[in-house]
Amino acid sequence: MKTTTVPSILIGPGGSGGRGHIKGLREVAQRGLDCMEIEFTYGVRMKPEMAETVGALAEDLGITLSVHAPYYINLASYETDKIDASCKRILDSCQRAHLMGARKVVFHAGFYQKRTPRETYRLIRKEILDVQQHIRKAGWQVALCPEITGKPSQFGSTEELLELMQDTGCGITVDFAHLYARNQGNIDYDAVMPRLPQAFHAHFSGIEYTAKGEKKHIRTQPAHFRPLLDALINHHKNVTLICESPKPFEDAIMMKGMLEQKKRNN
Ligand SMILES: [Zn+2]
Repeated sequence: MKTTTVPSILIGPGGSGGRGHIKGLREVAQRGLDCMEIEFTYGVRMKPEMAETVGALAEDLGITLSVHAPYYINLASYETDKIDASCKRILDSCQRAHLMGARKVVFHAGFYQKRTPRETYRLIRKEILDVQQHIRKAGWQVALCPEITGKPSQFGSTEELLELMQDTGCGITVDFAHLYARNQGNIDYDAVMPRLPQAFHAHFSGIEYTAKGEKKHIRTQPAHFRPLLDALINHHKNVTLICESPKPFEDAIMMKGMLEQKKRNN
């Protein structure tokens, strides 16, 4: 009999799917999901008091929270005021994350524009070290988790992010849908997994792509998730897995159902 122990795989939606944070959290709990990502897509507008309320409810319900910083971030911009604004968006996200007890802050780090990947890497590394210093001084219990991005023109390949982890001690967000789009639909999970840490934060959904990479996130099919789920189990990865499809609750529930079935069969 095969006896692979199933690692800790927490599954939940990216955002509240328009329900609002409080209702969203309650539904996460009701549906038997484990985690939720609070998305500050267009700006950090949540009041600190609200962050505390959301955090207290999540704790009551036993839901793990993470935070996605606003999309508009470029730590390698040619304009210093844009770099400063990017750092501020990350720091504001970190402060709210700390208040709500969310340990991971996800963001897309930047763009190459006309710079070489190496130059871009050095600029981003410098800003991350700087932001980390602020976090330490403020005493916030959060880890920066830059994300593997979906387009080769965007900073954030697996190699770059693994190197950033080594250099700065930051975390990583592995968006497996982005990896799939970057690789034009070819993904060998058994080759990817050994390179990743034993525990990490992850995103998943269906995805549409072109030659330039990611086009848009789409509904997640069981056929998309099955090979990823098998690889996470076979490689003993402990992950929080956020579903970023246009129907994040429905698809997270489908994914969780597949995980439960695996557990029963093991
Ligand atoms: Zn993502």
